[in-house]
Amino acid sequence: MSIGEAALRELAGEVEAFVRGPGEEYARQIERDHAVPPGLWDELRQRGYLSLAAPQEYGGRGIPFSRFLELIELFSMSHASLRMIVHVCNGIWRAIDQFATDEQRKQFVLPQVSGDIRVAFTLTEPTAGTGADIRSSVVREGDTYYLSGEKHLITFGVNCDYWLLFARVAGTRGADGTVALMVDRHVPGVTVEPMAETMGVRGTDHAHLIFDAAPVPVANRLGEEGQGLQVALGGFLTPSRISVAMTCVGLARRAQELAIERAKVRETFGKVLAKRQAIAFALAENAADIEAARQLTLHAARRWEAGDPAAGTLSSMAKLTAVDMLTRVTDKALQTFGGIGYWEPHPIERIYRDARAQRFEEGTNEIQKTVIARDILGGAR
Ligand SMILES: Cc1cc2nc3c(=O)[nH]c(=O)nc-3n(C[C@H](O)[C@H](O)[C@H](O)COP(=O)(O)OP(=O)(O)OC[C@H]3O[C@@H](n4cnc5c(N)ncnc54)[C@H](O)[C@@H]3O)c2cc1C
Repeated sequence: MSIGEAALRELAGEVEAFVRGPGEEYARQIERDHAVPPGLWDELRQRGYLSLAAPQEYGGRGIPFSRFLELIELFSMSHASLRMIVHVCNGIWRAIDQFATDEQRKQFVLPQVSGDIRVAFTLTEPTAGTGADIRSSVVREGDTYYLSGEKHLITFGVNCDYWLLFARVAGTRGADGTVALMVDRHVPGVTVEPMAETMGVRGTDHAHLIFDAAPVPVANRLGEEGQGLQVALGGFLTPSRISVAMTCVGLARRAQELAIERAKVRETFGKVLAKRQAIAFALAENAADIEAARQLTLHAARRWEAGDPAAGTLSSMAKLTAVDMLTRVTDKALQTFGGIGYWEPHPIERIYRDARAQRFEEGTNEIQKTVIARDILGGAR
């Protein structure tokens, strides 16, 4: 049975209390130690926050996608590493599930939803474009693929159980011959290097991976040879882009809250900043900007739920709009703080850094514009 309105309201209240209470404490700890404490994963899992969006028959809470977005907005008011964990865990099951056999569903999807295994989405390469350009390749011998190539920037790629990895059958080009593989983190023939410190999203590990004929059972392939990019970019990508768009709304909302608090108390030349039209207008623009992005994102989510083919383009529009909004809002919020906002440990300093990462997640602005342009211009391009 689907969750009722009252239960959803209660859950949203719980999430908000968690984010504003223990979530802030975790944020301070992560910034101090530059590491996500294992206790955060455990607590998020115990509270059921890693399986909110998955269907109940998979062990999830079965919260409808557009309602889950209300929760991801709240989580995203917190530290970027916290929202990254919640976003990825609540979404990656979709990518695995699309082409999974019953056996693979038992082996990978259900344990991912329950939090027994962690899966890292492993697409980006240092020497190729992200998509049909990938160069990592497999050679098949009997029931085994031998995987060679390089991946980098892989979130949770060090501390995971499986890489959901995209490669190609050696000798193929473009989308043809691409494969999606569940690669065991402890496979022989791989070098796993934690990447250097990031600008924001501190604490989350990112991996550089080098495979040298690493053996992967053919049984761990999702879908057929040639369907690899459909796993990466097919039915999974639209909801994931929409979810990232809503994470932009949540982070912007937090930046705006902090700016409003500051504007109400900081006095210059005998008046609080909130009484200066220049500042009040900046905050008014932020409020309108945030609401517009939120509503476009929810619209995209509802069209996706309704099975509308336009949802793919709408998801790109939502992501593009939301991430540009986040850039403007965090910039004006930091400006409202004055110079002190540029210093740690003011949360606005962290939010400003964290916001920049969102421009790379689930496709850059250039990629979103390419998707939208292809749709509106059709054969003209
Ligand atoms: C914090 C963080 C976490 C990440 N986590 C993951 C992860 O878990 N898994 C994963 O696989 N990847 C991950 N990435 C990588 C991310 O998906 C890529 O950075 C992003 O897709 C861009 O690819 P690239 O870095 O190879 O840039 P490049 O492909 O080198 O592109 C550089 C610039 O050129 C533009 N560009 C590239 N090609 C074109 C084109 N054809 N037309 C127009 N413009 C173009 C890009 O938009 C970009 O602005 C992460 C990145 C960050 C910052």
